[in-house]
Amino acid sequence: MTEIVKKSSFLDYAPAPESTSILHLQKSYGLFIDGSFVKGHGKAFQTISPATEKTIAEIANASAKDVDTAVAAARRAYDRTWSKLSGADRGKYLFRIARLVQERARELAVAESLDNGKPIKESRDVDVPLVAAWFFYYAGWADKLDYAGLGPNPRALGVAAQVIPWNFPLLMLAWKVAPALAAGNTVVIKPAETTPLSALIFAEILQQAELPDGVVNIITGAGDTGQALVNHPDVNKVAFTGSTAVGRAIAKSVAGTGKKVTLELGGKAANIVFDDAPIDQAVEGIVNGIFFNQGHVCCAGSRLLVQENIHDEVVDRLKTRLSTLRLGDPLDKNTDIGAINSREQLDRIRELSDIGEKEGADRWTADCVIPDKGFWFAPTIFDNVSTSSTIAREEVFGPVLSVLTFRTPAEAIAKANNTPYGLSAGIWSDKGSKILAVADQLRAGVIWANTFNRFDPASPFGGYKESGYGREGGRHGLAAYLESAGWSASK
Ligand code: NAP
Ligand code: MG
Repeated sequence: MTEIVKKSSFLDYAPAPESTSILHLQKSYGLFIDGSFVKGHGKAFQTISPATEKTIAEIANASAKDVDTAVAAARRAYDRTWSKLSGADRGKYLFRIARLVQERARELAVAESLDNGKPIKESRDVDVPLVAAWFFYYAGWADKLDYAGLGPNPRALGVAAQVIPWNFPLLMLAWKVAPALAAGNTVVIKPAETTPLSALIFAEILQQAELPDGVVNIITGAGDTGQALVNHPDVNKVAFTGSTAVGRAIAKSVAGTGKKVTLELGGKAANIVFDDAPIDQAVEGIVNGIFFNQGHVCCAGSRLLVQENIHDEVVDRLKTRLSTLRLGDPLDKNTDIGAINSREQLDRIRELSDIGEKEGADRWTADCVIPDKGFWFAPTIFDNVSTSSTIAREEVFGPVLSVLTFRTPAEAIAKANNTPYGLSAGIWSDKGSKILAVADQLRAGVIWANTFNRFDPASPFGGYKESGYGREGGRHGLAAYLESAGWSASK
């Protein structure tokens, strides 16, 4: 079944694309090692815009030898400069980086939308402001580590190897780099193959900030580069965000090496709507929960659990609301749904959606025009999904919502927890006591009440079960980058 049929004439706007003239892109980018861009020894690759399939730039590919050079640069920088600085001085660099991110915010937002396919209103109003917020927040911690509740004089670990995914390229970089530097570590980070651009502009920002050479090294490449990095014998810490399959492989490969590890993996969050919820707000929250960033969100509310007596009303309103979303040019300010990040991801979303249909769920797709070029998937709802259905269990990582029903709070809790994941959940109800009682019994790292997909640098984020371990954000996020006796994340 094709996901699209005809053009909606509802609420048409004139095109309002953000200009790309603010970008000063190079034709080709090297690896950022020891403060400079250097050639990579692997076969260079292209990064494309998923909305047009046009090449944006050529990107260097780090070989195992380049990984070695980058780790050696990080080690030198740790020994000679970064570990010698006071927390207050490290904080000054982080504040400087945060301010430069703000100064170059529009450029970073345009680059992110171009390379990733996400709507400019999201990169401009969510991703980039949060990147700055993360650096400001951890800048403030750099000289206060003694007061973080981690025991007296907590020490940095050394060199951190960090590997990140493509869904929030610059934001995931900030989540990793800011706490690592605040805690006094140096970094080698690998962005995802399909979205290296904002990390390379960030490298220019590091040069502008005059961060000492080698403190942050950014190496581009594919999965084998990531593998060489996390397996390098001279790294002390591995921080990974990505799929559960790769996370599991990393956990196995670093077991017994003494490296400290944090894994932020997949999710299949329940968004629970009780019959006393404010329905209009809940519908907005459901839309934000699963259609934000084309559903490429680890904590997306991909399983709607709606109380049976309001099911029809909620689903009808949801369909009406989805029919007003505009899919198209990520650089257009009016766009709600941008491009799927890669052909590979689009194929995966199509495959899982076809399975959903074969397994008997009712498929509904919003009526919108699909551009000729690029990778697109219209917002889709599966109704009458059973708990055993593949689309209720596996992460689709796309704009696809599964709808299930429940009758009692106990049934909602049982269904919400019936997943191998445990990253996030949402609860919609007018009653605070009900929200707290239900939240208490959900096995999820983050629980939103009458909202969804809200992020704050002061708030720890992370999962249970197959969603990984360790926390990013807040004071807990510092613990992941510090050696400290007698402290555990549960305190
Ligand atoms: P992925 O395939 O696991 O890739 C993540 C990163 O790991 C990429 O940089 C990738 O490089 C690299 N990589 C691939 N194989 C590797 C290996 N064997 N060793 C080391 N690194 C390796 O995941 P993805 O498809 O990019 O991202 C989607 C997944 O990330 C989803 O499951 C989502 O839920 C999860 N995610 C979780 C969070 C969270 O905080 N919990 C946040 C965002 C995303 P290439 O890109 O070059 O392949
Ligand atoms: Mg790209």
